[in-house]
Amino acid sequence: MTALTENGPIDRDSLSPMDSADPLAPFRERFLIPDDLIYMNGNSLGPLTIAAKERMHSVVINEWGRELIRGWNTAGWYDLPCRLGDKIGSIVGAAAGETVVCDSTSVNLFKAVAAARALRPDRGKVVTESGNFPTDLYVLDGLQSFSRENIELDVRQRDDVTAGIDSDTAVVVLTHVHYVSGAIFPMAEITKRAHDNGALIVWDLSHSAGAVPTNLNECDADFAVGCGYKHLNGGPGAPAFIFAARRHHETMRQPLSGWFGHAEPFKFYDEFVPANDIKRLLCGTTGVLGATALEAGVDQILEADPDEMSQKAIALSGLFQRLVTEHCGEFGLESRSPPDARNRGAHMSYAHADGFAVMQNLIARGVVGDFRAPDNMRFGFSPLFMRYTDVFDAVEILREILTSRSYTAPRYTETRSVT
Ligand SMILES: *Cc1c(COP(=O)(O)O)cnc(C)c1O
Repeated sequence: MTALTENGPIDRDSLSPMDSADPLAPFRERFLIPDDLIYMNGNSLGPLTIAAKERMHSVVINEWGRELIRGWNTAGWYDLPCRLGDKIGSIVGAAAGETVVCDSTSVNLFKAVAAARALRPDRGKVVTESGNFPTDLYVLDGLQSFSRENIELDVRQRDDVTAGIDSDTAVVVLTHVHYVSGAIFPMAEITKRAHDNGALIVWDLSHSAGAVPTNLNECDADFAVGCGYKHLNGGPGAPAFIFAARRHHETMRQPLSGWFGHAEPFKFYDEFVPANDIKRLLCGTTGVLGATALEAGVDQILEADPDEMSQKAIALSGLFQRLVTEHCGEFGLESRSPPDARNRGAHMSYAHADGFAVMQNLIARGVVGDFRAPDNMRFGFSPLFMRYTDVFDAVEILREILTSRSYTAPRYTETRSVT
């Protein structure tokens, strides 16, 4: 890759050679992204892949259409949660048989935290971060109110989280890459602190999987969950994944004991006997269509070099940051992300008093990021389909919008249900 000079202005022409030399550049052709868009939201909804489009057609027409109920055996539907779980597991540093695909991230978090809590019956404290992704906090709140055993939630400021992990702690629940700032928690270090205090840990990898190198087993993590529709490109509302370290498989129990988690679901027994492996984290029937699209998205990532992906995400986000400082410095944008791109995942946020309207204006101009209340504009840097020149063009459009104040037009301040 051609390196940029450390100082001095960057012109667009100096970025084209970086795109040409980019080892990941061929991956862009696998995605169906409209030509007139600079898509900076792969961290929120990954774009459609050609593979997913083709697999969806085939699963609907050939498998559902022709195989019908036989497809559970003949088309591999029954094995899908484990087969796809293993593929995702290989991306996040799990061994085969430690990850399954099912349900949503929210539901999987409920199962994972309940299972971890039950493995520490003599302790009641669950430590998490304030400002964590809201569903994580809401799920903990729900779990607390439905638990027979007492659960004390200890919700702490980010820099105070580790101090809260002590000998009363049953479970630590943290998101590896923060959904607004992109800040990365040191997974190995915090996991060790939890274990040194006799606690278990549940990592939410929603913004990590497919973007940031993650090694659950090297860190000795206990449980993890994560999202299928973000960097894994599984499509809107794709199923999520859940991981449990092998050492917990025989003792862990989770409260959503449905028939797919049974040792012998097709014996139709009255009593629930959990499967003796990772399948005990399943609940009900697999959403085959959604999981099929996710498998196609994941297959693309499996072909990419994870180090190249992470280096490029860092380079793209570092470039964006430098260009924003250079070209938009006078407009009161305030970075909400760690200053060094190596310390954040594949997205970053800028606060602006009119952030919502500026983002709506950007979207209308074909630069698609998103907005996170109260005032954050969030930009994603997906290494498999973004180009360095895209970053340049996006910042130019941002500068035009801020200079002209076109975002003050009433149509950009109308609120919508999804931001
Ligand atoms: C996106 C995200 C989720 C999503 O949860 P769903 O149940 O899929 O809606 C959960 N946690 C974090 C940290 C996320 O970033």
